[in-house]
Amino acid sequence: MSGVDSVIYMDNNATTKVAPEVLETMLPYFSELYGNPSSMHSFGGQVGKAVRTAREQVAALINAKPEEIIFTSCGTESDSTAILSALQAQPDKRHIVTTRVEHPAVKNLCRSLDSLTGHKHRLTELPVESDGTIDLQRFEDSLDDETAIVSVMWANNETGVVFPIAEMARIAKNRGVLFHTDAVQAVGKIAIDMADVPVDFLSLSGHKLHAPKGIGVLYVRKRTPFVPFLIGGHQEKGRRGGTENVASIIGLGKACELAAGHITTENTVVRALRDKLEKGLLTGIPNSLLNGHKTQRLPNTANISFEYVEGEAILLHMNRFGICASSGSACTSGSLEPSHVLRAMGVPFTAAHGSIRYSLSVYNTEAEVDFVLEKMPGIIANLREMSPFWQNR
Ligand code: PLP
Repeated sequence: MSGVDSVIYMDNNATTKVAPEVLETMLPYFSELYGNPSSMHSFGGQVGKAVRTAREQVAALINAKPEEIIFTSCGTESDSTAILSALQAQPDKRHIVTTRVEHPAVKNLCRSLDSLTGHKHRLTELPVESDGTIDLQRFEDSLDDETAIVSVMWANNETGVVFPIAEMARIAKNRGVLFHTDAVQAVGKIAIDMADVPVDFLSLSGHKLHAPKGIGVLYVRKRTPFVPFLIGGHQEKGRRGGTENVASIIGLGKACELAAGHITTENTVVRALRDKLEKGLLTGIPNSLLNGHKTQRLPNTANISFEYVEGEAILLHMNRFGICASSGSACTSGSLEPSHVLRAMGVPFTAAHGSIRYSLSVYNTEAEVDFVLEKMPGIIANLREMSPFWQNR
């Protein structure tokens, strides 16, 4: 591997490359167009206009109204804001429903609520099936009169499994329960239409869809009770204080416009590449298993376990060929604990430890997939030769 040109990047659920068109759109806002979008003068006003355009571009991608878009610093802030807002707006309700496979941004917040707020909460973390899907009846049964909010991810960052958010949100709505979805992995990869899906809050994050890191959005449906998380100035109509991250907002707007044009490609070209990769790995390498539902899945993600080898060791060997992927989620790697998502799905220890997530984007090519398919069997075979678990299986 010699420098970034030779990198084969299949770690797009961790973060994505900033699209060249996005970078180009942003650059003037770091130099000559440095005005404050809230200023009365026209120098700042032109920046305010660009922020308004970006808000419209984000809204258009998910078929929302521009005034329902609040810019935040990241997906994590959006998740926190939605959940804490719902709890503050309904102080008599202290039950939260979520799942066992949420991203730490939701999971760890929900688990910290008692110490954070000084109030006792009841947390239901719904189990998932062995293919990562959810039982809708069990979900419905979990709701009660004390439920303040449901927070369920649209698509799982590790397996790509997509939850039936439209149906779940309808069930919650019928029970008068607020619904938040962490759609950080879904937006830009699959079509999302807020007119069809009655969620109250939706989180998204720029760096998962070819915008920069450090910019996110919380969608809040009109008339949803809302309590700000960051209290300060009047920015975002008083819903999130702090001078706007102008360049990133404008970059996110452009990225959303590009994503709207890419959704078909994601679901045809990227899906075909992912399917080729997945099929090649599963048929070409013995004792390899797909984690997650075969079809109810993001078009770009394949999470595959290679039994009896360590994910970290596999990644190191892939790295020697310039192939970037993840084992577990980027946030949990660094620990040797198998991922909480695979554990919730009941993936056996010997398989959970050797799981690799390949996550593609529109920038991947068939030649890259062929290269990965050429290298992976040798990597796994070499590691297995050294593995006592493989020898004694
Ligand atoms: N939610 C999901 C499903 C994610 O995959 C991530 C990032 O990996 C986040 C939330 C956090 O987003 P951010 O990095 O913008 O805080």
